[in-house]
Amino acid sequence: MLRNTLRTSLRQFSTSPIRRGVQEITRPAIETPLSLWNWTEEEQMLRETVRRFANDVIAPKVSAMDEKEEMDPAIIKGLFDNGLMGIETPADFGGSEMSFTGAIIAVEELARVDPSVAVLADVHNTLVNSVLRLYGNDHVKERWLPGLATEKVGSFCLSEPAAGSDAFALQTTAKKDGDHYILNGSKAWISNSGEADTFLVFANVDPSKGYKGITCFGMDKADGVEIAKKEKKLGIRASSTCVLSFDDVRLPKENIVGEVGKGYKYAIEILNEGRIGIAAQMIGLAQGAFDHAVTYAYQRKQFGKFIGDNQAMGHQFADMAIKIEAARLLTYNAARLKEEGRPFTQEAAMAKYFASNVAQEAAGQAIEWCGGVGFTRDLPVEKFWRDSKIGAIYEGTSNIQLETIAKLLRKQYASS
Ligand SMILES: Cc1cc2nc3c(=O)[nH]c(=O)nc-3n(C[C@H](O)[C@H](O)[C@H](O)COP(=O)(O)OP(=O)(O)OC[C@H]3O[C@@H](n4cnc5c(N)ncnc54)[C@H](O)[C@@H]3O)c2cc1C
Repeated sequence: MLRNTLRTSLRQFSTSPIRRGVQEITRPAIETPLSLWNWTEEEQMLRETVRRFANDVIAPKVSAMDEKEEMDPAIIKGLFDNGLMGIETPADFGGSEMSFTGAIIAVEELARVDPSVAVLADVHNTLVNSVLRLYGNDHVKERWLPGLATEKVGSFCLSEPAAGSDAFALQTTAKKDGDHYILNGSKAWISNSGEADTFLVFANVDPSKGYKGITCFGMDKADGVEIAKKEKKLGIRASSTCVLSFDDVRLPKENIVGEVGKGYKYAIEILNEGRIGIAAQMIGLAQGAFDHAVTYAYQRKQFGKFIGDNQAMGHQFADMAIKIEAARLLTYNAARLKEEGRPFTQEAAMAKYFASNVAQEAAGQAIEWCGGVGFTRDLPVEKFWRDSKIGAIYEGTSNIQLETIAKLLRKQYASS
């Protein structure tokens, strides 16, 4: 139902022509600057719908999913039914045809209740759908986008055991064999891969060319994706993270997404955008932990008054609220820059770096504010803290974000 409403209203919103590539402009720059709390009616509606879905459907299951280290299939179905798995996908391909900011809003709201569900939707929307939508030809889009918007989970397979931060050192090969390619190798730490049917796999068609041989292939699980191991993790435990192996997987050349040898470029561009999604996950997480702990502080009495009424506590709440607000502004500003077709790499890296620090701090403080019960699984704050650690690791570690920012600063300030 939401999908239909969103589709109708978003058609009115996205009237400007969409350009291919990261420079696509989906939100015209406006003459009168507005606050970053200024949402379109559709974005506001999306936020309210996702918040309701997260509170009513996801919240009761969070703890059990964390304990079992499994995503409840009913939640995945709910994400599809609510149009949250094809947020930017055009209506012609079964999607909600919303803005990038729409995806960011959805990830933030999901993370406020469960960062595991948020990362499932985030990887699916901002990485998998976006690569196909931005770089795929008509055949590729028609083949995968409709399924990904309605029933099939997607995985983005770049990292390998020996290629994490140095992702382009990947060793998975795709050897040409007539009109086919034969894939061999393995991928590590792949989110969503336990539930996924659709995989975007980066493999090198000509290792002698180095990173310029890296090519993106789309494939179905049935093509021969093997799950070699499911990781047991510190946090986001309901989100599956697996090692995958490819053993002589034969794919027709039509499975290539975009151009041969351009996979490295697509990966860089899409991860620049994807980082804004992880920043959104982290601000949602920080807000979720803050909401639980501050509410608790105005219910719990010690020394005859609410613990939150101690000035020392109130000042800590204020300090953390400032940091969460700052992280949110960095995140939405990066999203708006991207939509306006302006450079956003530095701002996206800043947003991810800062938001993941704030998330760790907010969740850690939330435990302290709740005292002993905060350290137990009776409250969700300890889970938020465990979940927060991943923000500084995936889609570029914090050091890599600093490296990106430092390089851009050097370009700006150094004369040679
Ligand atoms: C839960 C989870 C989900 C993930 N999901 C996906 C996914 O869906 N798809 C996918 O492709 N990958 C995924 N990843 C992989 C993730 O992107 C990598 O783990 C990440 O990029 C870091 O790589 P690494 O683990 O090899 O760490 P390393 O690169 O070995 O880094 C280890 C440490 O060294 C530091 N370091 C490395 N190089 C430098 C440098 N040049 N300068 C300064 N410091 C440096 C890092 O900052 C870090 O602190 C996931 C990982 C996890 C844990």
